[in-house]
Amino acid sequence: MEENKDEKPMVRVEDFEEYDVKCADCEELLLKMVKVRDSEKSYRMIIECPFCDGESWLIELVGDYFQQTPKRLKLGKGGAEDRDGVLVTKMKRRW
Ligand SMILES: [Zn+2]
Repeated sequence: MEENKDEKPMVRVEDFEEYDVKCADCEELLLKMVKVRDSEKSYRMIIECPFCDGESWLIELVGDYFQQTPKRLKLGKGGAEDRDGVLVTKMKRRW
């Protein structure tokens, strides 16, 4: 079992209509995931925090979700980066 070898806790998001992705360190809201429909699709992601240089837990999403950016944040340039099968998204502060 090579899974989760960095020992980061993983949160599985499947039955949520909406899920708030928060920073694991400072608990700021980083991104809201809103479910569009159930599907077999799944992907893993981590959101990097612009407030404390920390990041969210490792999140596994099952289904189709869209990302809703909190008002005071925007997605970092270049979109998500693939880090060993995990989509890592950088957020930036608007102000
Ligand atoms: Zn943080």
